[in-house]
Formats: sequence, structure tokens, C-alpha cells
Amino acid sequence: MASALTDKLTRLVKEMRGQARITETNVQDMLREVRMALLEADVALPVVRDFINRVKEKALGQEVMGSLSPGQALVSIVSRELAATMGEGVSDINLAAQPPAVILMAGLQGAGKTTTTAKLAKYLIEKRKKKVLTVSGDVYRPAAIEQLKTVTAQAGAEWFPSSPDQKPVDIALAALDYARRHFFDVLLVDTAGRLAIDAALMAEITQLHAVLKPVETLFVVDAMQGQDAINTAKAFKEALPLTGIILTKTDGDSRGGAALSVRQITGAPIKFSGTSEKLDGLEVFDAERHAGRILGMGDILSLVEQVTAGVDMAAAQKLAAKMKSGDGFDLNDFLSQIQQMKNMGGLSSLLDKLPAQMAAKAGQVDMDKAEKDIKRKEGIIQSMTPLERRKPELIKATRKRRIASGSGVHVQEVNRLLNEFEQMQGMMKKLKGGGMMKMMKRMGG
Ligand code: GDP
Repeated sequence: MASALTDKLTRLVKEMRGQARITETNVQDMLREVRMALLEADVALPVVRDFINRVKEKALGQEVMGSLSPGQALVSIVSRELAATMGEGVSDINLAAQPPAVILMAGLQGAGKTTTTAKLAKYLIEKRKKKVLTVSGDVYRPAAIEQLKTVTAQAGAEWFPSSPDQKPVDIALAALDYARRHFFDVLLVDTAGRLAIDAALMAEITQLHAVLKPVETLFVVDAMQGQDAINTAKAFKEALPLTGIILTKTDGDSRGGAALSVRQITGAPIKFSGTSEKLDGLEVFDAERHAGRILGMGDILSLVEQVTAGVDMAAAQKLAAKMKSGDGFDLNDFLSQIQQMKNMGGLSSLLDKLPAQMAAKAGQVDMDKAEKDIKRKEGIIQSMTPLERRKPELIKATRKRRIASGSGVHVQEVNRLLNEFEQMQGMMKKLKGGGMMKMMKRMGG
């Protein structure tokens, strides 16, 4: 699905090139594709409708900035809105309560509650250095209580016994009392699930919530649920003041849409995602990354990380300062730009990380050839004297011939490089003060 959307958006971006603003017509086409893609990703229909309306409102009439085409600008609005809907950044578990901080786990049977309870215990022990107690309120399935006992031991936490002849509320209160007396930092309460929503289940968990007063009430939901996730989420939201969501089985072949539906219906942040059956398969949920994945826009974040890691920041800043101070952009700066491009880890390795519209552009270029070309340019500049690099206007016929033979190329290539340099110089004058840094920021979206 990701690649289909990528293709569609890329085509639309191309069609929209050369238009100066986002208009009713071009936005309609684009949003139709986004809508289809979200539905294909299993986002629930009412959620898609809301989302599209918000994007439309933000996009219409917006002037397109600088080097962005209307298509790119719209993709950027869509991706930002998606990230905003998913909840920006990351949202960690809240333990700000008089210890023990109680965490109540809610969700349907099979969603992954018990596994996730143990994963969370492990996370809190290892990452937050907490003393953790678990207890199961699932008095309907003795096997569920046993399962929690087993996985709690694997997680290195302590398990509080319970049995099918007890009432869930009594179990919870006994566990809470034990946790207090033994100075536990956190009490994780696993609850009974049903195969489908029913009133008795909801009444029971509401009662548990009332006596436990948990600092976190986490809704555990299976990412593979797709369209159905919206109904489950609605029912749990009505019964409980949810403080967070854990999306399980994201390693399966789900299409990612449940995250968006559940997030929008409950309004609660997605805090973690389950990435395997094993107890270390729990990741802090990164909304922006997930949003990018839904839209198939490439792993923008990791691209930006890679770009900034490869670039000599000091050199880039020096260059930026130079542009600001109005000093000319010379061949040394040009060389430094070329070299930084090389440092980014090679052009081809960047290609598959690029957002759709950029990758399409880049895909038309022969990467091997492009990399060789960079090396040749480097060679040509290195065959110049320091004076020539500072004052390229000195490079006339004789000097050109010397440089060409020094770097083993034809004179025409030296000419081509000087032309390119002049173009770049012109562009730098326009950008003034931004240069490489500004271009990189643009790439990062
Ligand atoms: P509960 O009924 O809600 O307590 O669900 P369980 O914890 O028993 O999990 C149901 C099934 O889903 C088990 O087979 C788990 O191993 C599996 N499961 C839970 N979380 C994940 C996950 O993040 N990834 C994968 N692949 N399987 C998971």
C-alpha cells in the first residue's frame, strides 16, 4: 500500500509542478488519493473524513514557499497533519503518583494484554529502575492467571496470586495493599477480556478503575484489528478515562491504519507499540515516524539523522556564516559542498530513505554515474591553485588546460564545472545565509 500511495502522490506532485498555489482543483485530486490510501490502510471511514477536511482547510489558498512545488507543499501538510493527529513526539508512561503507581490494562481478549503487562514490567524494571508487582483480575480464565505468572517471572517482576473464586475488585485491593506494604513502585493490573464488547465486562473494569484510581489506564489494542478497532476503542473510551494506548502486533502485516483510528477516537496518546511475541518486543511509540510510514513517505527522520551525521557541521556553519557576511562563495566552498555530499554516505544509500517525491526525482538519475561525477569534480578543483579557487574569474584558457591535464579530464569538463559553480554561486546569493543548512532543513521537511 505504501508504494502505491507513493507512486500516486509522486505523479500528482509532478502534475502540480509549475503551479504557484494550492487550488481547489489540485487539492481535490491530491486528497482523493490520500483518502483512498488511508482507507486501504484500514483507517476507519469517519476518521478519514475528518482528517481530509482538516487538511483541506489548512491547504487551501496557501502560498507555496520557496523551492517547494504545490504538490510537495501539500504532501508536507498531509504528513504534518498526520503526525499531529497521531500525537506529536513520544509520550512516556506516567508514574507521577504516590507509590505504588497503579497501571490498569484494558482491552479485548487476545489483544495482547497479558503479554504487554509483562513487557511493560520489564521495561519499567530495566529502563526506569522500578520495583514492579503484577496481578491478574481475570477470574474467568485460570489459564490467564497462570500465563501472567509465567511471563511476570520472565520479566523479572513479582507476581501477586489470584484465583477464580475471588472477585476482581477484592483481588485488586489485596494486591494494592501488598504493594504498599512491600514498597513497590508500580502495580500493573491485568484484566479480563472478552471476545467482544459486553456490558458486564465494561461494568467490571469501570468498578476496578474506581477502586484502584490508576495513574495510567492503558487501552491495549491489536493493530491487525483494522476497521473494527474503532468500535472497540469507542466502547472502552466511554467506559474508562483512558490515558494511553498500546498498539500490539505491529510486526504483523497490519496496514497501520488502526493507530490513526484509535488515536483519533480516544484522543489518548499511543505510548508503546508491540513488535514481537517476546518480552523485549515493546517500543516507545514514535508518532511522527508512524505517520510517515502510513503515507509511505520514506523514513524521513532517519534520513535527516544520516544527513546531519555525515555532514561536517563546523564546515557547514562556516560556510553559512560566510554567506551571511556577504563574502563571496568561491571554489573552496563549492569543493566543501561536494565533499559533504559524499560524506552523507553515498547518494544511492540515501535514495531509499527519501520521501516519495524526492526519490522519484532522484530515481531518474544514474547513481553510479553521479558518484563518479562528484569524484571527478573534486579532482578538478584539487588541481587548482589556492588563488584560482578563491578567484575563479582568473581561470582562462591556459589555466584551464593545465587544470584539465592535472586532473586527467577534457577542458570541456573544466568548463562545465565552472558553469555549475557559477550557477551555484548565483543560487547561494539568493539563499544568502542559509546555504547547505537551509537546503538540508528543506529536505527534512
Ligand atoms: P490477552 O488475551 O489480551 O491477554 O492476550 P495475550 O497476551 O495472551 O496475547 C495474545 C497473543 O498475541 C499471544 O499469542 C501473544 O504472544 C501475541 N502477542 C501479543 N503481543 C504481540 C506483539 O506485539 N507481536 C506479536 N507478534 N504477537 C503478540
